[in-house]
Amino acid sequence: MPKKQLLEFTDKGIYCSVGKFYIDPWKPVDDAVITHAHADHAYLGHKHYLAHHHSREVLLYRLGEIQLQTVAYGEKVMKNGVAISLFPAGHVIGSAQIRVEYKGEVWVVSGDYKVEDDGVSAPFEPVRCNHFISECTFGMPVYQWKPQADIFKDINSWWRSNVERNLATVIVGYSLGKAQRILQNLDLSIGKVYTHGVIENTSEALRRNGIVLNPTTSITHESVKEDVRKGIILAPPSSVGTPWMRKFGPYSFGYCSGWMAIRGAKRRRAADRGFVLSDHADWTGLVSAIDATGCESVYLTHGYTATFTRYLNEIGFDAHEVHTLYGDDEGINTVPEEEPALQPTVPKGEGLEEAGRDLS
Ligand SMILES: [Zn+2]
Ligand SMILES: [Zn+2]
Repeated sequence: MPKKQLLEFTDKGIYCSVGKFYIDPWKPVDDAVITHAHADHAYLGHKHYLAHHHSREVLLYRLGEIQLQTVAYGEKVMKNGVAISLFPAGHVIGSAQIRVEYKGEVWVVSGDYKVEDDGVSAPFEPVRCNHFISECTFGMPVYQWKPQADIFKDINSWWRSNVERNLATVIVGYSLGKAQRILQNLDLSIGKVYTHGVIENTSEALRRNGIVLNPTTSITHESVKEDVRKGIILAPPSSVGTPWMRKFGPYSFGYCSGWMAIRGAKRRRAADRGFVLSDHADWTGLVSAIDATGCESVYLTHGYTATFTRYLNEIGFDAHEVHTLYGDDEGINTVPEEEPALQPTVPKGEGLEEAGRDLS
């Protein structure tokens, strides 16, 4: 690059040297702009955080006492002459694309995003820019999502048939985003929704933030097993196969993830049902989102970066592959662990998706 780029890729994260801030840095920095509260984007240890209002309570719950400034979508924050604003990414509640503008040049960092409106997160909004840094978790043509209404029809009829067969129903999705998306789309005429503590705590944080969610009952030692077995149990990936989960048996266990689109994923998770429900854009969604930015160049991070970059170059984009430490929050190969980390954790490389924490 002859001239220094407004946003650079450094070993700490995406950096704006003019504005002196990082976007989703994975090592401790003074000034961090955070796209969303998933563990591979929001690390502990920064001096100052900037995020969307709706990420506030979850960030405080996960990271403890941090110096946090929150803003609305579209609101402008100036840092050393650089204008920063956040736009909806449609990934999970509070998720944002970060728009950075300096002397008429605009960069947008997508963070994680999906283009389908899930009815829970603010819907994805294309933002015009010169340079776009896009995730591509599912940047392969085999990944084509069905509308979520179809998926929830399947989930609800599976639940209903479990009740008829006297089987408990356990549905698994990660605690920030997927869990609430499931919760809001369940047919509550079938029964009550029972939650694992981590999901309940995350939902409670969102409720404190003013997000209205369907009623849930947290599973405690006092819970009556037969009552819980008539409802649906909303559980995080870390609970799969644990004694906590087994005590509700016999049950049918469904797993919600984009990875359920590939053969073998369901078996690897030992799930009875795999529901293809992702909070990331599918192949078509990625291409359309990138196209809608009108960008001159696009930089691809986490996912099938090589394949996807090659494809975009073939169809006429100026695409570049970049290496970051962002993980894959719908990961199959991960070791999910649900407690917020006490120390900043740095993933050791690609494929280690969630910095040992809450995603999968
Ligand atoms: Zn994410
Ligand atoms: Zn991510």
